[in-house]
Amino acid sequence: RSIALVLGTRPELVKLAELIRVLGPAARVVHTGQHYDDELSGDFLAELGLPEPEYLTGVGGRPRAVQVAAALGALDELFAADPPLAVVVQGDTNAALAGALAANARDLPLVHVEAGLRSHDRAMPEEHNRVLIDRLADVLCAATPDNRALLLAEGLPEDRIAVTGNPVVEAVRDHLPPAGERARLLARHGLAADGYLLATVHRPENTDDPAALAAVLTGLADLAAELPVVLPLHPRTRARIAAAGLTGLLDGLTVLPPAGYGTFLALARHAAALVSDSGGVQEETTVLGRPLVVVRRSTERPEALADFAELVAPGPAIAAAVRRRLAEGPAGLRRLSALPSPYGDGTASDRIADLTAHLARERA
Ligand code: UDP
Repeated sequence: RSIALVLGTRPELVKLAELIRVLGPAARVVHTGQHYDDELSGDFLAELGLPEPEYLTGVGGRPRAVQVAAALGALDELFAADPPLAVVVQGDTNAALAGALAANARDLPLVHVEAGLRSHDRAMPEEHNRVLIDRLADVLCAATPDNRALLLAEGLPEDRIAVTGNPVVEAVRDHLPPAGERARLLARHGLAADGYLLATVHRPENTDDPAALAAVLTGLADLAAELPVVLPLHPRTRARIAAAGLTGLLDGLTVLPPAGYGTFLALARHAAALVSDSGGVQEETTVLGRPLVVVRRSTERPEALADFAELVAPGPAIAAAVRRRLAEGPAGLRRLSALPSPYGDGTASDRIADLTAHLARERA
């Protein structure tokens, strides 16, 4: 019998890739199709060396409740026909919630990778997903001691929690291209190391409110007058920019299609600073030693805020925060590169594989 890994988006592929490799033939990867766009999922599978997953149909592009319900129904059929020994989910997506509920419904042991993150922002669907998944999980893989403390404070029993680190550390280690390849990539895009900014925008709080979207893009356009701003554009953000009539604000930016993982890491590694609302990027910049301006109301990753990142609202605060970082110059970059990542030492996937195998043996 297998170990099922239920996932549905780009960051889940990134963070579960090494665990899937370590589990080997026991891993059964089920993709809910939450992000069905090939630029976000298909190419990623090949690049991360992942096996072709089993796909659920009728989930992607639907409202949240329908996504969860459709994935739950389809997963229940899969698990009834061929029950796995354990189910693994990562993070806070609708796919992860559906996987957790499906495991619970069939009394299958559940492992939650990246447990104990809290933004305390109840307007974020991800916050509700996290809390629900943590309640249901039998093994809570907390990335940091602070994540563990948050779980304990909510009354979750100590013997369910392990501090494992975050698999993002090994993802960066395994997929950052070598220096020569990075240099060629920068040259192809006409970029100088430490001489450009890298930005990503995709969270609904920034894309679905035209005023916020305009404020983010205006901040980037302002900075682009000083140095190149590279923006790999998420398909949803591209659609929202067009719908809001804001395409003109992209004129001064270097707009790219969503980048492959290695390409994105290479661009991040040599950026003078990053501007992003992504969760994963908050972690990756701590491994790469680059400063990050997080454009969000709140973050569930305060570990990064101490040294690597600053939280700002959409608007003039973006350019101001970036300029403060740029003013620190090469010494600022050297300081960050010398700091350890708060997300661990690159052994999280091995630890999680051991915990999962143990759980599966207990239930076998
Ligand atoms: N990423 C990428 N190409 C891009 C933008 C992001 O490979 O053009 C990676 C990034 O390095 C991170 C992951 O995608 O590992 C984050 O995904 P996303 O921002 O969609 O989700 P979040 O982390 O916010 O849940």
